[in-house]
Amino acid sequence: MTAKVIDGKAFAAGVRAQVAAHVAKLAEENGIQPGLAVVLVGEDPASKVYVKNKHASTIEVGMASFEHRLPAETSEATLLALIDSLNADPKVHGILVQLPLPAHLNSELVINRISPAKDVDGFHISNVGLLGTGQKSMVPCTPLGCLMMLRDHHGKLAGLNAVVVGRSNIVGKPMAQLLLGDSCTVTIAHSRTKDLAAVCRGADILVAAVGRPEMITGDMVKPGATVIDVGINRIERDGKAKLVGDVHYESAAAVAGAITPVPGGVGPMTIACLLANTLTSCCRANGLPEPK
Ligand code: NDP
Repeated sequence: MTAKVIDGKAFAAGVRAQVAAHVAKLAEENGIQPGLAVVLVGEDPASKVYVKNKHASTIEVGMASFEHRLPAETSEATLLALIDSLNADPKVHGILVQLPLPAHLNSELVINRISPAKDVDGFHISNVGLLGTGQKSMVPCTPLGCLMMLRDHHGKLAGLNAVVVGRSNIVGKPMAQLLLGDSCTVTIAHSRTKDLAAVCRGADILVAAVGRPEMITGDMVKPGATVIDVGINRIERDGKAKLVGDVHYESAAAVAGAITPVPGGVGPMTIACLLANTLTSCCRANGLPEPK
């Protein structure tokens, strides 16, 4: 069997086009422009690339982009004061603080200072609680992108066995909540899971969010399963820099029914969902119908 490749790049382009159309309609009919503020503290090279890409994508869909680049030695008080001013700014509908923050800053404190309504990353404790109790919230972008691709591929997910490998607050746990919300039977695996291969082989839907290059191999995949590879790992192979996922693509694709590639799978969906969340936040703030 050769798996169907789930093209996240094309899917994300479709989501961005829908967002852009809605943004144009808001401008024309309501004179409103959604705005996204991104805060970067320090010089982490990967974070700088992410922030640059987010800025470009925000402009491309017609939203306002507010970039705040602060030096690595920025104090917590300064950062919190900036968040307070963004919370109060009516032109800003989404606030994203790029993680990881420098070690002297308390990420939880900073994230929880963002107004939950503007928390387009969905990391604020209120949004985590709302998602966990099945209420309307801001949903973290990466798991939301995965869910959209899964719904598109499967139609209904109810009753499917889903295994999420990884239990981080930003990917694994919210992914599991979303799959549970769609009535999957969900298992969360992690570094202490016994016989991970056997657990994974029970999955109709296997989501890998581990941060270990090519750890999930074909012998861990149930024939015909859908494999979603969240991992982004920079490795060196044959003297060249290469981006690989948490799934060993060739062996898994030989067994799976469908699979997301790296790059070009989950990654592009994350930014598309960030824009979609910003649009949703803008509509909610203005009492307008939310995009579907
Ligand atoms: P974390 O490091 O926060 O979490 C990794 C999880 O994997 C932990 O729960 C850990 O278990 C588990 N794990 C580690 N080793 C093993 C193992 N040998 N067997 C089973 N489980 C294991 O990572 P993130 O959730 O932040 O990210 C995961 C991956 O997704 C990374 O590659 C990251 O780069 C990528 N990513 C991609 C995004 C995108 O846009 N595509 C966005 C965000 C992340 P334990 O809790 O027991 O330690």
